Amino acid sequence: MSKRVGILALQGDFAEHIEAFSSLDCTVTAVKRPDDILECAALVIPGGESTTIGKLCQRFGVGEAILELNQRGAPIWGTCAGMILLAKEIKGSAQWRLGLMDITVQRNAFGRQVESFETDLPIEGIAGGPVRAVFIRAPFVTRTGEGVEVLARFEDKIVMVRQGNLLATAFHPELTDDSRVQQHFLGMIEAKQ
Ligand code: GLN
Repeated sequence: MSKRVGILALQGDFAEHIEAFSSLDCTVTAVKRPDDILECAALVIPGGESTTIGKLCQRFGVGEAILELNQRGAPIWGTCAGMILLAKEIKGSAQWRLGLMDITVQRNAFGRQVESFETDLPIEGIAGGPVRAVFIRAPFVTRTGEGVEVLARFEDKIVMVRQGNLLATAFHPELTDDSRVQQHFLGMIEAKQ
């Protein structure tokens, strides 16, 4: 059976993530309920509004299911709001989070002047040249703990990190036609088996 990749579908751009995985070697499925999450080999937490996704995670018992999936070592990838939810610390905010990655993030960190922008980003471990990266009211990482690898920076700002089974991007690979970041994530499932 092909790998089952769940896309957390509580709020945000989950439809774009589903589309981005649909032509790749996996079974992609929208997940909302704890039971559905626990059936997945890997999970993506999409971009959106991290406070809203966090509230819904609490309300539906989804947070516990994600923590259990992590305990099993399943790859979990957060994009943008998803990165914020994975972080242990969120600068100046007490909002709910999973707190799995030993990083501090700052929300809306690129400021009001540049709410969104695109750039070509070289990524550690991804061959074939820079990846087109779309940033939308994006966070960046202001601190990384031990065991956190920095995979990409934009100027001097950390925008992609990995810690074991956890991957986080401040940008949105699901909004371009390039599937190399998705392939990289699928590779993390294979490496685990
Ligand atoms: N600014 C949003 C937040 O703080 C994240 C934006 C996004 O996911 N594109 O939750």
